[in-house]
Amino acid sequence: MLYPQEFDVIVVGGGHAGTEAALAAARMGCKTLLLSHNIETLGQMSCNPSIGGIGKGHLVKEVDAMGGAMALATDQGGIQFRILNSSKGPAVRATRAQADRILYKAAIREMLENQPNLWLFQQAVDDLMVEGDRVVGAVTQVGIQFKSKTVVLTAGTFLDGKIHVGLDNYAAGRAGDPPAVTLSARLKELKLPQGRLKTGTPPRIDGRSIDFSQCTEQPGDGMPGGMNEGHVPVFSFRGNAAMHPQQMPCWITHTNERTHEIIRSGFDRSPMFTGKIEGVGPRYCPSVEDKINRFADKDSHQIFLEPEGLTTHEYYPNGISTSLPFDIQYALVRSMKGLENAHILRPGYAIEYDYFDPRGLKSSFETRQIQGLFFAGQINGTTGYEEAAAQGLFAGINAGLQARGQGPWMPRRDEAYLGVLVDDLITKGVTEPYRMFTSRAEFRLQLREDNADMRLTEIGRQLGVVGDAQWELFNRKRDAVSRETERLKATWVNPRNLPAAESERVLGKSIEHEYNLFDLLRRPGVGYAALVGMDGGKYEAAEVSREALGDLHDDVLEQVEIAAKYSGYIDRQKEEVQRAAHYESLKLPAELDYMQVAALSIEVRQKLQKHRPETLGQASRISGVTPAAISLLMIHLKKGG
Ligand code: FAD
Repeated sequence: MLYPQEFDVIVVGGGHAGTEAALAAARMGCKTLLLSHNIETLGQMSCNPSIGGIGKGHLVKEVDAMGGAMALATDQGGIQFRILNSSKGPAVRATRAQADRILYKAAIREMLENQPNLWLFQQAVDDLMVEGDRVVGAVTQVGIQFKSKTVVLTAGTFLDGKIHVGLDNYAAGRAGDPPAVTLSARLKELKLPQGRLKTGTPPRIDGRSIDFSQCTEQPGDGMPGGMNEGHVPVFSFRGNAAMHPQQMPCWITHTNERTHEIIRSGFDRSPMFTGKIEGVGPRYCPSVEDKINRFADKDSHQIFLEPEGLTTHEYYPNGISTSLPFDIQYALVRSMKGLENAHILRPGYAIEYDYFDPRGLKSSFETRQIQGLFFAGQINGTTGYEEAAAQGLFAGINAGLQARGQGPWMPRRDEAYLGVLVDDLITKGVTEPYRMFTSRAEFRLQLREDNADMRLTEIGRQLGVVGDAQWELFNRKRDAVSRETERLKATWVNPRNLPAAESERVLGKSIEHEYNLFDLLRRPGVGYAALVGMDGGKYEAAEVSREALGDLHDDVLEQVEIAAKYSGYIDRQKEEVQRAAHYESLKLPAELDYMQVAALSIEVRQKLQKHRPETLGQASRISGVTPAAISLLMIHLKKGG
């Protein structure tokens, strides 16, 4: 049957990429359909019940700054929040939250169900409708044909998914869900470049069988005994601590020599070591057998016991992801302190699945081969909810723009981690599941969690994904930051009006000539509070108003203080970006035959011919394309070659 209505954007898959893609396209006003296997599993966390962390938290904040769902859902479902790297510089500080899976999923579903312009439909998609080199819709398992101008595919780990536990395996998309086999076969027919990857998950444990008295308690920030007691961190720029449900601690135990012996005794039945699994797994999230094998000299590993929610006893033992046979899983869990009588609720497993080489995507995430078809999430070779959500938002926006007849949006590497993620994927491809780290970004000082809204909310508003309430909140904050910065710059202190004793108390020495408060704030060890309190509050008179800003007050001061402290470095980074801007965005002719650029080595010519970068900046990041090759290419282009 041909469904009577036609859509602007169809999103296939209701995981983290799919939900953000569908919500973003619908927020833009596009008529959007989200097709997924099961409405009950929309927004499901396939693995650990946590969101954020270093690099990942940055992505979540960026998605949030553009009106996305992940941070808000985490504020509504988060049962433990922490600021990682809190003693380090603001560039690498990151929010991480433990979420109640049920509350998180419910929050996402509520947003989906209440989003204007968005239709939900439960069915497996088995086929794409393709006319010439353009996608025109999707076909479900029972033959319903949905027509659309664009399709965003976010099938996660489901394409030809195969679960392994020891030497046993079976077809599945993740435990308890069917694989997408027919769609995988159809995509193979379309000859899109692809490969196999794998990921894994630990066995889950019934908390009633854990002896917590043998484990070390780890409270979250704001909890009694935790950092910053009384102040639980908030994820979303639109969130607040009142949204959080009850907070819970995590617990820590360790593997020991006996655990390692048990694990080694299962190596001969490991699907990884016996070659049953062909896909490459995430290096930074290795299975416990991988850790024991690779770091044989370590006699213990820390294991976090993380609660899965408020209404369940289930615990997620973070650090023992495994595909070893179940008898080994059982023994290894019980060899650890506090887990001697542990009851396993679900076995751990590894899953292998098809992914598509992201070098086959344009900078908009549209496939090069099929117009109107976009890929986002784990299907592009990444791992993680946050990476998936960011890509989903991006692909949803670009599908929406194309449906509206507009050109794509492409964030730059100096604008957003999202820009780094997209650029890394399309220029370098992946050899293992890709995850975000702050070290991947060259311009870390300006790509901070705390200023994600300052970097992206205005762009989001122009693209149509930021609603009125968020826009109004953002403007209040931005105006207050700029007013306060100006006030500090315009408030002068000099040896005549600042008593020497007061100067020494706040600044550590007396001032020798006139300074404004902003300059003084730039000094190491000088904080905003001490500054505005100088001389009994004489300089505080116009301090940014606590009453007017309410919840925003601390955020505004944080922005003002960071801007002052890092202004020198940030200005230098901006200059660097400006110097490289021309070169970075220089468009390469689409028809350029690199094989004819004689000055380049054969290897470089072949790489450029294969990957066909859109800009010189992209070309420079393809592995093996050296700065010397880029100079030669520039000379060739200047000559009009
Ligand atoms: P998914 O969350 O997988 O969502 C895909 C959605 O598409 C599902 O709703 C599915 O039902 C739907 N779908 C698929 N095919 C079709 C179809 N043909 N028709 C209709 N609907 C379809 N990440 C980490 O960061 N660390 C880890 O340690 C980690 N371990 C993992 C372990 C396992 C076993 C699994 C399964 C995943 C793990 N992940 C881990 C990855 C994390 O779950 C994913 O990165 C993230 O969920 C990807 O989001 P996504 O939206 O791309 O796909």
